[in-house]
Amino acid sequence: MWENVFQAIDEQYEKMVKTRRHLHQYPEVSFKEEKTAQFIADTYEKLGIPYESHIGGNGVIARLEGGKPGKTVALRADFDALPIQEENDVPYKSKNEGTMHACGHDGHTAALLGLAEALLPYKEELPGTIVFLHQHAEEYAPGGAKPIVESGALSDVDAVFGTHLWVNAPTGVIQTSKGPFMAGADRFEIKVQGKGGHGAQPHQTKDAIVIASQMVSSLQQIVSRRVDPLKTAVLTVGTFESGTTFNVIADSATLTGTVRTFDPDVQNLIIEEMEKVIKGTCDANDATYEFIYEKGYPPVVNHTEEADLVLQHAHKADASLRTEEIEPVMAGEDFAYYLLDKPGTFYFTGAQIPDHYYPHHHPKFDFDEKALPHAAKTLFQSFISYQER
Ligand code: MN
Repeated sequence: MWENVFQAIDEQYEKMVKTRRHLHQYPEVSFKEEKTAQFIADTYEKLGIPYESHIGGNGVIARLEGGKPGKTVALRADFDALPIQEENDVPYKSKNEGTMHACGHDGHTAALLGLAEALLPYKEELPGTIVFLHQHAEEYAPGGAKPIVESGALSDVDAVFGTHLWVNAPTGVIQTSKGPFMAGADRFEIKVQGKGGHGAQPHQTKDAIVIASQMVSSLQQIVSRRVDPLKTAVLTVGTFESGTTFNVIADSATLTGTVRTFDPDVQNLIIEEMEKVIKGTCDANDATYEFIYEKGYPPVVNHTEEADLVLQHAHKADASLRTEEIEPVMAGEDFAYYLLDKPGTFYFTGAQIPDHYYPHHHPKFDFDEKALPHAAKTLFQSFISYQER
């Protein structure tokens, strides 16, 4: 039934490539994407699709209201770049010194803009409303998704779908998982303040090395003894700095580390338990402490029903596509905030160039542009599947 739309998306291919290469040459880092936002706004202006700019920062949201009743579904594309010097030798190489689209967000934007143009002639046939959600600042916490959600601009939206072009999967493969999909990654720092002194007179000191060592051991019991064994978490102490020389008892010690979780309840449990361990150990040893816990983005937890729509229906968008249900990956994404607010799903669109594999955020990162229509078509299919579910 939507064959003509999918064909129209395919016909946007060259335009998508042109848009992508333009954006690639003029990347802007997170929170400074004014010209990119303007380019997006100008595109909707030319298409005659109503839009709003400066949503939660540099966000741009356009709405295509269909001629038939239905749900309101947001399709998200991020558009910020990274502070990386590009090392690719391509005609569309970055012209902005020290800045590069090294994650594929130029492609996300090109695919969504191409989709909007392809759909315009079919407006009257579409059910519900498509919200083209162009998000700034994905790469740099606190990110753009949170302020966009907080702005209320998505309050009438029923579901949110988004995709990431993914060079860890071959072109033609769509990957997602039902439930936890991408990790929440946090950083902590613990400073233990004891009392230094002579190495031969421990009774007159509060040995920060001994106290912090107890703490490192006790912290291991949080994952093994406090977290539900059917859930998952990692707590790693990555650095331990203390002491000055062999015959002096250390005055203070500093630990830093990371916590990775897929469930906000587990994350909060770990923070509470850490505080208890740190406070308890210091109280028992008459020491004081400073505990800094920096939450990164929350985990991306897909909603099962919507993830199933992507897994079951992606091939309807393009017969050459195949879907894979994968294990969660440890990378993070601020798409998480939409999924805390609305049902929806985030998925990967395979885009690996077989003889040019460099991971995301690498100075030689590049993706297969043949995947651009795959992203656009599967986003549209997600919209339709959600309407028809
Ligand atoms: Mn990214």
